[in-house]
Amino acid sequence: MFSSFPEKVNIVEVGPRDGLQSESNFVSTENKIKLIDMLSQTGLPTIEVTAFVHPKWSPKLADSYEVATSINKLENVNYTALIPNLKGLERAISSDLKEVAISFSASESHSKKNLNRSIDETFEVVEETIKQAKANNIKTRAYLSTVFGCPYEGNISIDKVTKIVKKLLSFGAYQISLGDTIGIGNPKQVQKILTEIFKVIDNKEQIALHFHDTRGLGLANSIVGLSMGITTFDSSIGGLGGCQYAPGASGNISTEDLVNMLHSMGIKTGVDLNKLVECNFFMRDILGKELNSKYAKAYVASHKISV
Ligand code: MG
Repeated sequence: MFSSFPEKVNIVEVGPRDGLQSESNFVSTENKIKLIDMLSQTGLPTIEVTAFVHPKWSPKLADSYEVATSINKLENVNYTALIPNLKGLERAISSDLKEVAISFSASESHSKKNLNRSIDETFEVVEETIKQAKANNIKTRAYLSTVFGCPYEGNISIDKVTKIVKKLLSFGAYQISLGDTIGIGNPKQVQKILTEIFKVIDNKEQIALHFHDTRGLGLANSIVGLSMGITTFDSSIGGLGGCQYAPGASGNISTEDLVNMLHSMGIKTGVDLNKLVECNFFMRDILGKELNSKYAKAYVASHKISV
């Protein structure tokens, strides 16, 4: 199993978007910018900085344009934002982003709640958005949520998932991030789903994994992905996040925990773990609560730092 592990893993940091959109407190624009600028210094290759969605749907990210245009964009970091449609793309373009991420749901009910559109309607929107993004030299990544289970529909058929993956890739998305939106997936299921998906894709880099740690299985699920050749994982600083339209969803896997696990097994990420811990402490102080990272908690305990 371990011999098939990759030498290097790409981490997509989703804390400033996926994390902060679900936090109960509004984090000030200034602190969002500071967090992203701190994350830029850690060596993370990709940071999802915000979402260009209507503030009615994502009030905690109502300052998306200001955040995306005020951060200090470094050459070696890829900055991206979540967009639902062409309007979001326009804002990403005017914010000088070179990449966007578009949402898709494998569940009809979740799609209607989360995107306000059916799956078929979303296909049309996504196809046109990716086309326009390409015309503007912007790469598109797609999130496919509820792959491992839906809060409204329960199990989602693997056949449905593979069909959607194939279609999104045919539209021109360069990578599909498979989301365990409510953190209900298990290692055996990860193996089963990836096995089927690998039959319809050209190379494994077209797939990323986006796990939530709701039931404590985020890293265990990641191990299965690693053993099957997946090299891109989404995570968030301090395990912030969830899904505001998926009841019961708690945070993403924590970037600190993921990086620690990878480094301890000799897998490179290019990320400075100590700097990540500093980002964790920064957010902990702003939110006034301990965040969901076991590594940061152990760091505090071993360094006797008061929280
Ligand atoms: Mg998430």
